[in-house]
Amino acid sequence: MARTQIEAAREGTVTDAMERVAERENREPEFVREQVAEGQAVIPANTNHEALDPMIIGREFATKVNANIGNSETTSDLEEELGKLHTAVHYGADTVMDLGTGSDLDEIRETHVDYSPVPIGTVPLYEAVKRAESPEEITTDLLLEIIEKQAEQGVDYMTIHAGILAEHLPLTNGRKTGIVSRGGSIMAKWMEENGEQNPLFQVYDEICEIFAEHDVTFSLGDSLRPGCIADACDDAQYAELDTLGDLTRRAWEHDVQVMVEGPGHVPMDKVAENVERQQEVCDGAPFYVLGPLVTDIAPGYDHITSAIGAAMAAQAGAAMLCYVTPKEHLGLPDEEDVRDGLAAYRIAAHSGDVANGRPGARDWDDALSEARYEFDWREQFRLALDPDRARDYHDQTLPGDNYKEARFCSMCGVEFCSMRIDQDARESRRDSRSSQSPKGSEQPGDAGEMKHLESTTDLESSPAAEVNRPPVGTHESSDDSGDENWPDRAVEGTGDD
Ligand code: SF4
Repeated sequence: MARTQIEAAREGTVTDAMERVAERENREPEFVREQVAEGQAVIPANTNHEALDPMIIGREFATKVNANIGNSETTSDLEEELGKLHTAVHYGADTVMDLGTGSDLDEIRETHVDYSPVPIGTVPLYEAVKRAESPEEITTDLLLEIIEKQAEQGVDYMTIHAGILAEHLPLTNGRKTGIVSRGGSIMAKWMEENGEQNPLFQVYDEICEIFAEHDVTFSLGDSLRPGCIADACDDAQYAELDTLGDLTRRAWEHDVQVMVEGPGHVPMDKVAENVERQQEVCDGAPFYVLGPLVTDIAPGYDHITSAIGAAMAAQAGAAMLCYVTPKEHLGLPDEEDVRDGLAAYRIAAHSGDVANGRPGARDWDDALSEARYEFDWREQFRLALDPDRARDYHDQTLPGDNYKEARFCSMCGVEFCSMRIDQDARESRRDSRSSQSPKGSEQPGDAGEMKHLESTTDLESSPAAEVNRPPVGTHESSDDSGDENWPDRAVEGTGDD
């Protein structure tokens, strides 16, 4: 019996997870199987993660968004950590990475897996540093022990920093910001102190066997991603990418699923180049990008600088976007930062899907536009990416129920509402044409006819309805209203990986 989704796919088997993914994406199960078999998409689904609602990451499917959570040395509380998971799922994260570095890591991780309907990712190297107490003391035995334990706990994908090699380190000497990946800086220090090759690279085949046994998906870390736009696309970044391509193919030989992580900080004119190069070097393995931030000048607004790059990356073929919050580079994000970060990234992901013509993606836009033109305010709120915010902003100035049918809002006011003026003008043109035309000669689509009222956007049958659309708080597996096990809590640490 196949141990992993890719092994089953290669044998020609459509698994239950593939069936579910096909349903969520409005695709044929056979298409899902082919994409997984060819390594073009992954279904991160550890066989021990029973609460999981399977999803897929690949450039042919709706673009996904990851949120990072996790405790730190200063804050460690099980209920609080569960609250962070809830917050991330509530605001639309498709996967969640637990980057905890505080205490009770095992209990928190196991609880996350027990409750999470979305895949859980981790960076085992962080626990290794904590256990070894300093990077240079880490051993390969410790790394393998931690990776195996986390695989048994049900972690669906792990960032493995196996691509940074000793020979890459001199290539970073001229950089403005050096090595900014946490895992990358730890591995670099280990290699320099011990004078040996990257231990994760050395035991890579053993890691593959552990992953195959539990169906853990690789998220190959980009340890040498640029930390500023000046360092983008340099020799260090691309040398590591070549190694990641080799590691991708080695994992596939073990029937293990792979996605590859990417930058970072990249100016707009080089975003597509980054995606295209990764797709070529890694034979189409899904690209999972952090941002990228397209400029370095806006601390406090890096959810915006990075969402611009993320949207471009999605259009160019990135499969998953790791969110960035407004607090990036500045401090730990709170719940509102997480909300803003996830909104920015869901917009980026959806914009990419619209541009790429993903089936049903634009139905969501069309449905909201129709509600807008019809002044159906309640429907606008319901369809909004963040319904609560849309309603709150509207009601700040026009709170009364009577304004929910009003043909204006406070932005332009009743007199200057262009949509009302346009509707009235169309109406009067139509009346005038009707009175001049012989009875029964009107044609559908004649100027003046409000075609939007006749259109029937079938939003419910679109993949957007299941995959990327659920308005905040309505993900079917996270509808937790009244569930005291899902307390709202602040979320900390977008982390650097
Ligand atoms: S008042 Fe302006 S912003 Fe408001 S609905 Fe009318 S056109 Fe749109």
